[in-house]
Amino acid sequence: MDGGPWGGAAPIIDPFGRAITYLRVSVTDRCDFRCVYCMSEHMTFLPKRDLLTLEELDRLCSVFVRMGVRKLRLTGGEPLMRRNVMQLIRSLGRHLDGGGLEELTITTNGSQLGRFSEGLFEAGMRRVNVSLDTLDPAKFKDITRWGRFEQVMAGLDAAQAAGLAVKINMVALRGVNDDEFDAMIAWCGERGFDLVIIEVMPMGDIGEDRLDQYMPLSMVRAKIERNWTLTETDYMTGGPARYAVVEETGQRIGFITPLTHNFCESCNRVRLTCTGTLYMCLGQEDAADLRAPLRAASEDAPLEEAVREAISRKPKGHDFVIDRRRGAVSVPRHMSVTGG
Ligand code: SAM
Ligand code: SF4
Repeated sequence: MDGGPWGGAAPIIDPFGRAITYLRVSVTDRCDFRCVYCMSEHMTFLPKRDLLTLEELDRLCSVFVRMGVRKLRLTGGEPLMRRNVMQLIRSLGRHLDGGGLEELTITTNGSQLGRFSEGLFEAGMRRVNVSLDTLDPAKFKDITRWGRFEQVMAGLDAAQAAGLAVKINMVALRGVNDDEFDAMIAWCGERGFDLVIIEVMPMGDIGEDRLDQYMPLSMVRAKIERNWTLTETDYMTGGPARYAVVEETGQRIGFITPLTHNFCESCNRVRLTCTGTLYMCLGQEDAADLRAPLRAASEDAPLEEAVREAISRKPKGHDFVIDRRRGAVSVPRHMSVTGG
């Protein structure tokens, strides 16, 4: 088939006319933290033999880039905990220079940025998302269970020193960090970080009561606007966040509201797991196995066909519901499987 400007296969358009240009790849389901809203303390991880090798991940991602993906985000689990992950990142960086890819980026808990930031920059990465829900070291321990606050702070310093722009992801947790929005906005302003506040999503059994944690972002925003002036912008990153500028700091603040705001109509992304399963929607269970076609042949045509077939099943929207009476989890898989 005729292709895009770089001569690849035709870009993938789903049945609702959305071009699929954003691939999120979970490179491992493992993590050095055990955040309370993401994992239970005693998680069972995938056997290593089920994982795609780094070479297989590279080949799959490269097929997506050839098929029109412009933005690639590595996530997890903790992506920087995957052994030899820099090898994959350096290799994917080759698509940045005129190779079709516009952005290669990562979502990380920040614990390994001390050792990897320079390498990330050298591989062509320019921005990183770092998850940080609190600036209070004791609370940080409560939320992440195994995380070390100082290590993340050192990681953030290293990222900035290497020239990486940082965006902080903060999950709003009622009764946990809902007294910290002002401090977080001020600190991000001082550090030159953008901030994205995320509503907690009902994914996976984590042994906690989600209704206790859930806090609608409309409430968060109202709270913030008591002390800060937010001006709407049309800044878009290709992700689901809606952004405003905090006039007092000049930094951006984004809100991701999957439960209270429907952003599906502009959804341009799909998610690949470390076992080669492609999820067409974060909020739905329908998935396609790409590992079998990947391993069945060394040429990419059957794989491309499997990708097209999968995207032809991308649903119009998601089904997230927090059931207020039963506190039910509506999507059984953990966020660490698909990486958020
Ligand atoms: N380990 C990396 C990190 O923490 O940034 C990448 C993977 S983590 C699953 C990606 C993002 O999902 C993080 O910002 C995390 O806070 C968020 N997340 C995890 N579980 C969530 C949930 N149930 N609801 C909302 N966000 C969640
Ligand atoms: Fe690990 Fe990220 Fe999940 Fe926390 S949110 S447990 S850092 S994967």
